[in-house]
Amino acid sequence: MKKKPICDCCGKAGVMHKHITRSFGKGDRVVVIDGIPLSVCPHCGESYFAADTLQEVERLRLHRAGLTARSTAPVLAYV
Ligand SMILES: [Zn+2]
Repeated sequence: MKKKPICDCCGKAGVMHKHITRSFGKGDRVVVIDGIPLSVCPHCGESYFAADTLQEVERLRLHRAGLTARSTAPVLAYV
C-alpha cells in the first residue's frame, strides 16, 4: 500500500492531490498538459509537483518533441 503522502515543505502527512492543466516550455515549444497531479498541502498551503510527476511531464514533453503536429500548444493528457 502507498504510505500517506508527506508534505515536502512542512513534513506533515495528508497532502492532497488535485489535477490541473499547466503549460510547460515557451515559444513554439510550449506544451499544455492536462490532468497533472498537483500536490497541495492543507497544513502550510504549499503546492508543488512531485519529483516523479516532473519526470513524467518531461517524458511527455520529449514525446511531444517527436511529433510533427504543427498546432501550437497541443494539450497532452497526463496518464
Ligand atoms: Zn505542508
